[in-house]
Amino acid sequence: MIEIYLFILGSVFASFLYVYVTRKINGESIIKPRSHCDHCKHQLKWFELIPIVSYIALKGKCRYCHKKIDKYSFIVEILTGVLFILVYLVYGMSIKTLIGLVLVLEFIAICISDFKYMQVLDEVLVVGLAIIIVLVYFDGGVKMWYLGFMQAVFAFVLMFLVKVLGDYMFNKESLGGGDIKLSFLMGYLLPYQLFLVALIVGSTTALPYAFYINKKNTSGELAFGPFLMVGLLIAFLFQNDIINVINSLIIK
Ligand SMILES: [Zn+2]
Repeated sequence: MIEIYLFILGSVFASFLYVYVTRKINGESIIKPRSHCDHCKHQLKWFELIPIVSYIALKGKCRYCHKKIDKYSFIVEILTGVLFILVYLVYGMSIKTLIGLVLVLEFIAICISDFKYMQVLDEVLVVGLAIIIVLVYFDGGVKMWYLGFMQAVFAFVLMFLVKVLGDYMFNKESLGGGDIKLSFLMGYLLPYQLFLVALIVGSTTALPYAFYINKKNTSGELAFGPFLMVGLLIAFLFQNDIINVINSLIIK
């Protein structure tokens, strides 16, 4: 039952985030105009704005001009709902679940902005980090707070050095500023072993995409933020298993 509720909650959040991020990047107002069809600008009624349901009911087409509705919003809503359930299945009723839900939203917001527009919105990072800092305090007290901060500085400096080295070696921008800022958030939640695991997972999952992008365009610009977030989510959700594996490898 709670899974269904979480799925709906996730899709509603995702729907809002999608509108917020795309409008913000395109320099449009968040409140006005009301949601409308991208093609014929017809304003949408409330029943055409229900996440997932409306898209299916309208068969992916505008009711007025019958042109196709942006399917990314639909995909993002389903993905968020599923990830919300996954977080709950791992951590149950706990503060860690709340942290996980914030991370999922962060991941979704970064996917929308980085894949579509090659940028990560600062406010997405700042608001996410602020909420997580408060939640970590409730989860682990001042000690975790302090530890998180130290880890974050370590991660940030490490990524910055990688960027400087990468820029020098490839003679072009290797890591974006958004990626460096994102590493601060990653470090805040992950001890250094898990941070490295997250980097490895992120880089590995980014590889197929990098090949695809290189084939498609010559500038070879790569959205790395979403993959770093995949690494962070996996390292955060399965941290106990990962630590166990690392320990058993070191002891043997
Ligand atoms: Zn239309």
